[in-house]
Amino acid sequence: MAAKIHDADGAADGGHRLDQLHVAVVGAGRIGVELVRSLGDLGVVRIDVYESNPAAAEPLRGRCTVFDGDFWDELTLARLQAYDFAICTVDDRAARVRLNQKCLIANVNLLQVWTEGPLATVGAYPFGMLRDCACFECDATSGATPTPLATLKLSLAAKDAGIPAASIAGGLAAALLARVAARAHNAVARRATLDAASGQGTSVELRRDPGCPRCRSLERPVPIVQTRNRWVPSSPVTATCPEALGQDVRLSDDIDVFPGGSCRVGALIEHFHGGPIPAKFALTEIGGRTICLDFEEVRPDGPGDAADSTAAQRFPSN
Ligand SMILES: [Zn+2]
Repeated sequence: MAAKIHDADGAADGGHRLDQLHVAVVGAGRIGVELVRSLGDLGVVRIDVYESNPAAAEPLRGRCTVFDGDFWDELTLARLQAYDFAICTVDDRAARVRLNQKCLIANVNLLQVWTEGPLATVGAYPFGMLRDCACFECDATSGATPTPLATLKLSLAAKDAGIPAASIAGGLAAALLARVAARAHNAVARRATLDAASGQGTSVELRRDPGCPRCRSLERPVPIVQTRNRWVPSSPVTATCPEALGQDVRLSDDIDVFPGGSCRVGALIEHFHGGPIPAKFALTEIGGRTICLDFEEVRPDGPGDAADSTAAQRFPSN
């Protein structure tokens, strides 16, 4: 039984072609399954699911393409860029932070969805449409007055039927995706909640936090440079430009010897002896601009084939 979510702004009736969207869903748990169903009801047909537990993804095989494995490994930056939206349904803040990290860099619209008791929460971060979009790690509501607008309301029939919060969350996330897609360049970052017990919802616009540890120094879209994950001390670069060894980099992954992920190129070469660094990418500053060094190999079996490579272009950054 699907939850009926009513949006006073009529987002689901927006003009954007939902059947053209390509959506990545992370997690095939209860919320993920409900979300896939709700997206299907809205007419979204191109849905890929990333799930590390093959058994959990079983009910979705046949309905969507399932990529088995940890999304942090499977959903490379290059692969992520083939999607219009990525949605995290995993009930784990660390996973949400990781997908936020990658979507910020890949410039892909992000939704985060989770439940706490009867309360379903969805955050929408339209990175691909809004240059100054708040990110998931922004303290985005500080200073802003949360407006408990009841623009989202669960129908009485659904409420009385005791619809579980996961179903509400899946329906709410699909409704918010449709709203963002319909608004395209007028999209804003937004957090919406819907209480399965009371049937009442809130919706608040999120503003970028200038002090956000994740996005404060980022000017998006971030240039991405494909790099071999090999760090050789005697490379032509370090030979002609020894100061490159002193270049600061911020790694995508926490590594014990480099707390916080920040280190210098010289220290990386020394520690890993030129071998691969256990990180997906690194950020570094060149000429006052942050760029991304992408260490992940481009995979031929992903969604980023020729037919899909236009997906990101449908929402060029403004
Ligand atoms: Zn931020």
